[in-house]
Amino acid sequence: MNLESVPPIAAASVPCGVFVDNAWRPAASGKTLEMVEPATGAPFARIAAGDARDVDAAVRAARRALEGSWGRLDATERGRLLTRLGALIENQRDTLAVLEARDTGKPLSQARTDIDAAARYFEFYGGAADKVLGATIPYRPGKLALTERVPHGVTGHIIPWNYPAQMFGRTLAPALAMGNACVLKPAEDACLTVLHLAELSREAGFPPGAINVVPGRGEVAGAALSAHSGVDFLSFTGSPEVGTLVQIAAARRHAGCTLELGGKSPQIVFGDADLDAAVPVIIAAIAQNAGQTCSAGSRVLAEEGIAKDLSARLADAFAALRAGPPEADLDLGPVINPTQKRRVERFCGLADAAGVPLIAEGRIDPGAVPHGCYVTPRLYGPVPRDHPVAQQEIFGPVLALTIFGDEDDAVCLANGTEYGLVAGVWSRDAARAVRVARRIGAGQVHINGYAAGGEVELPFGGIRKSGHGREKGLAALDEFSTTLTLVLNHA
Ligand code: NAD
Repeated sequence: MNLESVPPIAAASVPCGVFVDNAWRPAASGKTLEMVEPATGAPFARIAAGDARDVDAAVRAARRALEGSWGRLDATERGRLLTRLGALIENQRDTLAVLEARDTGKPLSQARTDIDAAARYFEFYGGAADKVLGATIPYRPGKLALTERVPHGVTGHIIPWNYPAQMFGRTLAPALAMGNACVLKPAEDACLTVLHLAELSREAGFPPGAINVVPGRGEVAGAALSAHSGVDFLSFTGSPEVGTLVQIAAARRHAGCTLELGGKSPQIVFGDADLDAAVPVIIAAIAQNAGQTCSAGSRVLAEEGIAKDLSARLADAFAALRAGPPEADLDLGPVINPTQKRRVERFCGLADAAGVPLIAEGRIDPGAVPHGCYVTPRLYGPVPRDHPVAQQEIFGPVLALTIFGDEDDAVCLANGTEYGLVAGVWSRDAARAVRVARRIGAGQVHINGYAAGGEVELPFGGIRKSGHGREKGLAALDEFSTTLTLVLNHA
């Protein structure tokens, strides 16, 4: 399949305005932002540049929805709407995937996986909506005490550009399942699929105001949403720097928030690991989305005895990696924009300047146009433990290999960054793998596997600089609701 062989969603035919009350409108300022295609560097579409006035209109619409038809729906009816939206997304899978691939630069098959995940979020939370249970509490004679989960009210959602369609499902579906009314601020670098999904939500039958989307710049529309006094709860996914600002804005009015931030996730490979199984997974976990994944497995920690063998196998696999345009559907596409490309190149420059050995590098396909934001996938190692390439999130296809001595050293190395999001442990010794997994500071640990993708069922989130709160799985339903305790005095 290529971009031409599927019914195209011409960028011009995608709604590009502010979506409030199930209607499209230009930004209050009348301003727009140019969208540039990462694979070509060429202008692609224009979106509304929403500001505080648009955010305010969206928040008011959400509040009206809560007090009106959306707030009156019961959990089963909400679940049906979610399920219907999931089915509509699945029906438009190919066209949405093309749009997502062009907007983000990712290979078409990865974009298709993302659309499937977006649909799955709505299917999963649609089914869960009317299965959220409260509790009864043994209390005093003559009193019936019980709890129920109730929505926060109006929820604000700020998402990044790396997985726009998935993020739309991941953050909105559980919030809607619990009965919140939502205002979403997508990232200015890639949001066309999100705007198209908003249009589909109207088709699915969501009442006006349940889902509102305000595109625009982060420091304008995002900051306005974080600071709006009518927003009861914030869900932020993005960089630790902006996450700090969002949390401060939430704290000023005592609103809750979840932060899903970055990572420097390790893959710990013990000497007894099945390297045939491990190597392709380790490669995919850094090549996926050109390394622009918060849970990218960007560090590989090798036990001394197998470091040479593992390094040689990874080198062969890295040398085979090809970056190219989305329609070529190679291992990876371009990174999102020139700033991101410079960031990746700066880290590689630091490694080169420090004499860190470059074990292997992939190639940029000759079909990639010169103005696209392509970077060469690179494997460095052994990387000194305190080097920025081993410590900081690069958000690009750069894998850092370090060597450990024993189990304690592996744990110390794995926990030796500011982050704690996901980890992989590779060993045939199940007891050791579980022991090590339990000592790792992370929200998710995979043994003999890794999942940096759209596993909807698994609670996901970080500790420390990777953020707090859990999304995905049933845990997200807790995040997007609060406990109401009811006491009936019946004596
Ligand atoms: P970013 O923090 O710059 O932007 C994220 C979102 O915040 C965008 O919508 C942006 O417009 C908005 N924003 C920017 N400034 C703002 C402000 N002052 N107030 C409110 N909102 C503002 O991050 P990015 O560059 O878009 O994404 C890359 C980062 O996101 C990486 O660090 C990555 O690890 C992280 N990320 C984390 C996860 C996760 O689930 N943990 C997922 C994807 C990305």
